Amino acid sequence: MKWIYMVLSGVLLAALVLFWAAGAPDPTMMSATPIGMPSPVQVNKAALSSTQRVARPTVVIIQPASHRLLIPVAGVTASQLSNTFNQARGSDRRHEALDIPAPQGTHVLAVADGKVAKLFTSKPGGLTIYQFDVSEKFAYYYAHLDHYAEGVDEGVLLKRGDLIGYVGATGNAVTPHLHFAIFELGPKKQWWKGSAINPFALLGGV
Ligand SMILES: [Zn+2]
Repeated sequence: MKWIYMVLSGVLLAALVLFWAAGAPDPTMMSATPIGMPSPVQVNKAALSSTQRVARPTVVIIQPASHRLLIPVAGVTASQLSNTFNQARGSDRRHEALDIPAPQGTHVLAVADGKVAKLFTSKPGGLTIYQFDVSEKFAYYYAHLDHYAEGVDEGVLLKRGDLIGYVGATGNAVTPHLHFAIFELGPKKQWWKGSAINPFALLGGV
């Protein structure tokens, strides 16, 4: 009689596994995605097997956005960008930003939606803007501006493509260019603190 119990419990186990694979709700996915927000996990769901779904890591978003950012200097194309992220600055520092040369007064545009976190004047950066992305996990940094665009102020919500300032050579810039950087913010969302991400590929650079 013992084998009957073994067979029955085997069938029950198989049924449970099948139920799970057929789309039982995934608790990590449900809690990680705010209501109404498109989830990159859900988009890829169909392409993943049930084994991959179980093994999927909980943190999936490692970039500001899956779509490409707008090139922040009007009239500049992706093929004109050069990857200056890893250039040395002094003996112990890297550039960790892109320099985009342009004539003084060229329009500087918001690379994505998000609010102006801080307008700041610094000795190296000159006139700068720190913009948070909509998730407030990343900051976009625009430096050496000649002046700000009208209406740009701290707390203002920007749309991708909004005019935010004009190319200049303020701070330690020798010739007019935009110094553009992306930082991943810490949990306190301090606009002046973060780890740099290379914007080159995110702007479409090749
Ligand atoms: Zn620079």
